[in-house]
Amino acid sequence: MNVLLVYPPNPESFWSFSHVLKFVAKKSAFPPLGLLTVAAMLPSTWNLRLVDINVSPLTDDDVLWADYVFLSGMIVHKASAHTIAQRCAARGRPVVAGGPLFSTGFSEFPEIPHFVVGEAEGVVTQLVSDMQRGALEPVYRAAGFPDLRGTPVPRWDLIDLRHYVSMPVQFSRGCPFECEFCDIIVMNGRLPRTKSPEQVVRELEALRRAGWDEMVFLVDDNFIGHRRHAKELLQALIAWRRRAPTSMQFLTEASINLADSPELVELMVAAGFKQVFVGIESPSSESLLECGKVQNRKRDLGEALSTLQRAGLEVMGGFIVGFDSDPHDIFLRQFDFIQRNGVVTAMVGLLTALPHTALYRRLAGEGRILRETGGNNTDAILNFVPRLDREFLIGGYRDLMQRLYSPKAYHLRVRVFLRRFTPQGPATALSRSDTKAFLKSLWMLGIQDTGRLEYWYLFLSTLLSSPRKLPTAVKLAILGYHFRRVAAAI
Ligand code: SF4
Repeated sequence: MNVLLVYPPNPESFWSFSHVLKFVAKKSAFPPLGLLTVAAMLPSTWNLRLVDINVSPLTDDDVLWADYVFLSGMIVHKASAHTIAQRCAARGRPVVAGGPLFSTGFSEFPEIPHFVVGEAEGVVTQLVSDMQRGALEPVYRAAGFPDLRGTPVPRWDLIDLRHYVSMPVQFSRGCPFECEFCDIIVMNGRLPRTKSPEQVVRELEALRRAGWDEMVFLVDDNFIGHRRHAKELLQALIAWRRRAPTSMQFLTEASINLADSPELVELMVAAGFKQVFVGIESPSSESLLECGKVQNRKRDLGEALSTLQRAGLEVMGGFIVGFDSDPHDIFLRQFDFIQRNGVVTAMVGLLTALPHTALYRRLAGEGRILRETGGNNTDAILNFVPRLDREFLIGGYRDLMQRLYSPKAYHLRVRVFLRRFTPQGPATALSRSDTKAFLKSLWMLGIQDTGRLEYWYLFLSTLLSSPRKLPTAVKLAILGYHFRRVAAAI
């Protein structure tokens, strides 16, 4: 059996990091973990080929080689997924599609004959047996949420690791909270399921043996969804680092109540975590109440951020504008909050009604849904009728992004962050791509870029006041270059 696994090209977005790639001589931010994991569930006697179109083109030879094409993708890949599926159909190769795009929207792909809806673990055995018989069902739907303790180590051998900025590893799926706009709890449920610490260590060890020594993204919905299991994992990671020297660093996503647990934070930092993405959403308490973000209410959000930053974590924040409860000065309040708290990477998006979410159902009930979303939450396209005036909201959003990512405002909050932040945790050597990025930044940001004055001010002031923070300062300056371009295109 020849199976071709295909991942669509990423459009430019906040998270594509497309403008960073040229600094680090990489082709994509991270590889398709879902396909690599499914590949590991297929019989070892089958021939597998993975084409990540972000790294290399999909050729007709690839398609014609395959007995089946496995296609994955997120909502943001909708247009390219159609193109790929049509190309395979025209060459007589059946597609089996799975992943978030198809789990919530498979009915929009009439050209695709077979789907895996939900998580693959529960259905792959049946799918493999039907492929061997040549008699596939149109839809394979996972019953409930599978136990992750049987999920295999991804087939890292199917990709060239050197093309990627970071490697994804998943510890848990699901999140106990219930934010109205969130589709994660629709797809992965509210009862966090985790792999065992030994499983995760096995995955990391496989990466280490394959030569990976850079950033690893723990792609959990909420890393601390199951606190006890998270603690056990962190202890296992600390022990693993002692016996297997590595410069790997970790980044993950977690809810703000992480700041309430000094023990968890300390363990994360000791295990090598450097960054954490937190859904902050809004400084407006009414808007947080509206969207059910209970964990962010009745607390000093700025204080929580400061706790995490001072412990040695860079907090990347998610923010949303467009809630019904947003006041008219929401753009100013978001800007002030982000600047004051040194949230350097501030991903601000327009509220979006994602398919099957509680928000979508509410707005549909009120007759306010305008269209299905394209999945890019910085494209300034509203898919529902807002309470604030539509033009005011879109204009205010564009203006907010451009102000946040102007060289002056951006570098100012880098400096706020660096004042609070103290590098902690295991010492990590500068990687080859870090060094390349640094040298390129001297030319591209220090000479060519319009923000060169701010770059040199940041560079020299950090070098003189706290040289240990210089790698972080340069990395943030490079990221700012990407965000500024994304913001300018909104
Ligand atoms: S905390 Fe994050 S993952 Fe959990 S429900 Fe809210 S938005 Fe979704």
